[in-house]
Amino acid sequence: MAAKKVSPAGTIFQIQRWSLHDGEGIRSTVFMKGCPLRCQWCANPESWTARPEAGFGFRLTVDELVAKLRRDAVFYRESGGGVTFSGGEPLAQPVFLRAALEACGEAGFHRAIETGAYAPREKAAPIFDLLEEIFVDIKHMSSTQHKALTGKPNAGILRNIGHLLERHDNVTIRVPLVTGLNDDEANIKAMCSFLHGARGLRGVEFMSYHNLGVGKYARLGLPVPPPHAAPAPGHLEKLKDLVRFFGLTAL
Ligand code: SF4
Repeated sequence: MAAKKVSPAGTIFQIQRWSLHDGEGIRSTVFMKGCPLRCQWCANPESWTARPEAGFGFRLTVDELVAKLRRDAVFYRESGGGVTFSGGEPLAQPVFLRAALEACGEAGFHRAIETGAYAPREKAAPIFDLLEEIFVDIKHMSSTQHKALTGKPNAGILRNIGHLLERHDNVTIRVPLVTGLNDDEANIKAMCSFLHGARGLRGVEFMSYHNLGVGKYARLGLPVPPPHAAPAPGHLEKLKDLVRFFGLTAL
């Protein structure tokens, strides 16, 4: 008798149903634990460590996850929606993520990811090939500044994004914008030059800073980060104009 295939398990901190901002239609967003970065503005510090934590994470096998997602399959179908894997950094659990994406594909779910693309190419590329839609962050174009703001340099991230834009045709670049940290015109111009002419680019979406996650730091016993601010609406519009000036779509 053939042995039953083992369903890999992953660590998740939230499954958000009825999500409308993480891809097409009505979606379920699966927030996975584990992130190699430590962004100064992070609103999800409960995602940082990959281990389950009381109140901030649980283990699920792929079979269990897909069974939960199936509850909303009719809404995905009716709205053109599906499932989005977010985090944390979903690529930090590559074995589980790959198996979950394959199972979601077999179930007929549209599959998207929100990622920072900080992962070895050989792990990231086969995962990107399983996705219908990709949201990927660019946090800063200077590697020195990127390291100061997130704890890691950006060379591998930009290489992954360049590769992704050649192979995939539904990529949205998301830029978390924080006043004084990465919202200067020089940084956005450098990003637009990097993206100019990219085949698979759907557009650039600015995500203004919010402080909704600040209360979680104390609850996790982490130092509370210094206050940050979102760019003023006028400045945001100026940056969107800059994106359009380069022939790119500002979403
Ligand atoms: S990549 Fe996302 S989850 Fe990770 S530290 Fe940065 S903002 Fe937080």
